[in-house]
Amino acid sequence: MASLEQQLEKAQQYLDRFNTNGVPNYIGGIARAAVDNTTFETISPIDLTPLAHVAHGKAEDIDLAAKAAEGAFKEWAAQSGKARKAALHRMADAIERRAEEIALLECIDTGQAYRFMRQAALRGAENFRFFADRAPEARDGKSLRGDGQINITSRYPIGPVGVITPWNTPFMLSTWKIAPALAAGCSVVHKPAEFSPLTASLLAEIANEAGLPSGVWNVVNGFGEEAGKALTEHPSIKALAFVGESRTGSLIMKQGADTLKRVHFELGGKNPVIVFEDADIERAVDAAVFMIYSLNGERCTSSSRLLVQSSIYEEFNARVAEKAARIKVGHPLDPATVIGPLIHPQHQQKVLKYFDLARQSGITIATGGREYDGPGGGCYVEPTLFTGVSNQSPIAQEEIFGPVLTSIPFSDEADAIAIANDTPYGLAAYLWTSDVTRSIRVSDALEAGMIWVNSQNVRHLPAPFGGVKASGIGRDGGDWSFDFYMETKNIAFADSAQVIPQLVN
Ligand code: NAD
Repeated sequence: MASLEQQLEKAQQYLDRFNTNGVPNYIGGIARAAVDNTTFETISPIDLTPLAHVAHGKAEDIDLAAKAAEGAFKEWAAQSGKARKAALHRMADAIERRAEEIALLECIDTGQAYRFMRQAALRGAENFRFFADRAPEARDGKSLRGDGQINITSRYPIGPVGVITPWNTPFMLSTWKIAPALAAGCSVVHKPAEFSPLTASLLAEIANEAGLPSGVWNVVNGFGEEAGKALTEHPSIKALAFVGESRTGSLIMKQGADTLKRVHFELGGKNPVIVFEDADIERAVDAAVFMIYSLNGERCTSSSRLLVQSSIYEEFNARVAEKAARIKVGHPLDPATVIGPLIHPQHQQKVLKYFDLARQSGITIATGGREYDGPGGGCYVEPTLFTGVSNQSPIAQEEIFGPVLTSIPFSDEADAIAIANDTPYGLAAYLWTSDVTRSIRVSDALEAGMIWVNSQNVRHLPAPFGGVKASGIGRDGGDWSFDFYMETKNIAFADSAQVIPQLVN
């Protein structure tokens, strides 16, 4: 793998044009400034230097983009599934060709380590290929026999849709939402997170390169309360796919109410990893460490609450702490780095406040718990493990969204389930036990949309992804994605001479 110096040099080459020309919006296939010609700055979390001036889109820009998407919708929806499949495969090819550029820019813009962002860029291509292959079947439905009739269902793309994404692995997450929308035949207006706008702009360029008709894919940069809000309120936008915080989800639901928007929400999590004394301890330790300290812990499905049976509690914590303390924190482009700087000084401050809270409330900090003096002096924090925490503590209840693990002991199965479910969230849960029947019992009782047993989080694209409670509404993946982006129409045919009631002779 290339050295840090070589990586920095390449990243700078890719950054140069953004430094010079800024990041535009893409509307109707054309890169353009905001209507009022204003910009905002995106900064590097590594050293807080400005990376680019970004088009500061507002309601007028969203209006243009929504109208462009509306104008392009009918033609795109009318293309054959085969044609859409070919276009999306061209997108995937272009992502693979530009994977290095995508990964390097993502690292600089978000602080995520290159080892993970390289994979995330390629996952973006996989998302396109998966939904490309399903585009020809997207309209398929069911045949349902009734007395004297056959019902035939068929699906139709719902119309232009809005996609609003967060700053954690922004490229991969955007592809995950946008690929099924396009495969279904919808046109898209994408509002990327204001902290990480660079790779959304690459994706729009790739859409142009892949020959998507103009207006099928539009990107408007800007802030949530301006561009984001306008998108959720726009009458031409028929559905909203949103990934972000739970409280933003409830705002969006209110904002979309007047225009009766269909919504799909992937929100926050405070996911338990439950370790029983009969588990394969070595593997469970590695999984717990991986699921919270990879991707800077800025991951909705991170295993942020470690629930360990009391009989193995001390030993398990000691092993996790020992490994966490050896994790390399450093420059995101350094091939050895696992944890880079957090996305933004505001987010770093939020995480540091939990460190202060732990100290004030006498929680044991088994490792970490401080700011880290990393290269560039940016938003680094130490990988941290808190032990002996009550599940009522804000540290155990709130989403910290950093490399911070909170360990809580439990006595038995019932206690583990009660603690695991005692949170507003319900996205994912991880379960470690060698008892198969217990794994079924506990999985049944857990309030979570996704449960991995004796496994880390391995995403299988045909399987449903999503959460319950404050973690979301709806499911992504396979046909679930099409159900969201499409309307189902039922057509009933009489298969015999029906008795038609005569109201008058
Ligand atoms: P956020 O909610 O602050 O912002 C997400 C997006 O919403 C941004 O583009 C923002 O500009 C926009 N936004 C903000 N206010 C808005 C408004 N009033 N109307 C319309 N748009 C608005 O979230 P974040 O801090 O960027 O991301 C981190 C959060 O995302 C965490 O809570 C994390 O768990 C969650 N997340 C969830 C999943 C999942 O699949 N469940 C995946 C990734 C991230």
